[in-house]
Amino acid sequence: MRRTRSIHSSRWHSNANPCEIVTRFARLRTYNRASFVSGTFNAMSNSTELDLSSIAPRTKAEILAQALPYIRKFHGKTMVIKYGGNAMTDPALQADFAEDVVLLKLVGMNPVVVHGGGPQIETALNRLGKKGEFIQGMRVTDAETMEVVEWVLAGEVQQDIVGLINQAGGKAVGLTGRDGGMIRAQKLRMVDSKDPSIEHDIGQVGDIVSIDPSVVKALQDDAFIPVISPIGFGEDNESYNINADVVASKLATVLRAEKLVLLTNIPGVLNKAGELLTDLTSREIDGLFADGTISGGMLPKIAGALDAAKAGVNAVHIIDGRVPHAMLLEILTEQAYGTMIRSH
Ligand code: ADP
Ligand code: MG
Repeated sequence: MRRTRSIHSSRWHSNANPCEIVTRFARLRTYNRASFVSGTFNAMSNSTELDLSSIAPRTKAEILAQALPYIRKFHGKTMVIKYGGNAMTDPALQADFAEDVVLLKLVGMNPVVVHGGGPQIETALNRLGKKGEFIQGMRVTDAETMEVVEWVLAGEVQQDIVGLINQAGGKAVGLTGRDGGMIRAQKLRMVDSKDPSIEHDIGQVGDIVSIDPSVVKALQDDAFIPVISPIGFGEDNESYNINADVVASKLATVLRAEKLVLLTNIPGVLNKAGELLTDLTSREIDGLFADGTISGGMLPKIAGALDAAKAGVNAVHIIDGRVPHAMLLEILTEQAYGTMIRSH
């Protein structure tokens, strides 16, 4: 059995698959239907055409009405969403994501987008004959890599997302952590996870000192959707590359967000047998760190998610961004997806 949420109305107990509900809800036109495979969606495997024009208007109305309890519950609440890099390589999914963000804004929520850009940075580095190197899930960032990171994140990636949100009818504004003095950072001191006597020098990777969210709040109040590149600034105005999951997590805490949603390229946190872990407590996470189940980019993701949960963000979820409209499924249906991180 998968988890379901506490909001119930009799209408929620229909037989309709939540994926279909949200897909129809989000976009009332022809769409490639995702198939439901072993508790998660396999977005790529089934391209059955779903002709939405064949759905009776009454059914469409029913589907829309089913989102009401969630729209009411989350009205006026801040949702911090981490998007990309690995979840944002498919253009169709990018357009879906932008539509979802606009829809959340138009029904009265306050989405704040923090984006990553791993694959895009990797492509740019390869063009320069460089290859990315990671230690404990963090990108080793020498001066040349930092230039590429700034150029790719605050340029191409951020502006793609801003453009798509605007195209979907929203008003997105791109920011980096420099704007409004938002993200103060210092050089991250990375201690080896197995031998604490070893410290790794990973260059201009930032550790967040503080976040001033006033620019984000001002934009939210003015109906804009902030899209934030994870770049911080230091005491001497130097730039820092900060893991986007870490920025999203800290920002969710500082903004007292209702939810933190980390969209990634995997169904959620998996155990050693590759099975999805739907709920994780702090103690269970310690165990997964200790026995090496969690590695690479999942290390900062879970660490940040747990920090946010402990700091009072009500709901923290790691979900599969490759599923069409994953975010709407997560926020506007009773079905819970991916991994929920609990504070205790
Ligand atoms: P993103 O761009 O979404 O931040 P990352 O590559 O940084 O993606 O982090 C997600 C990756 O973490 C997954 O694709 C997977 O390869 C890796 N990973 C390591 N351990 C686990 C785990 N236990 N469960 C799920 N993913 C894991
Ligand atoms: Mg990552």
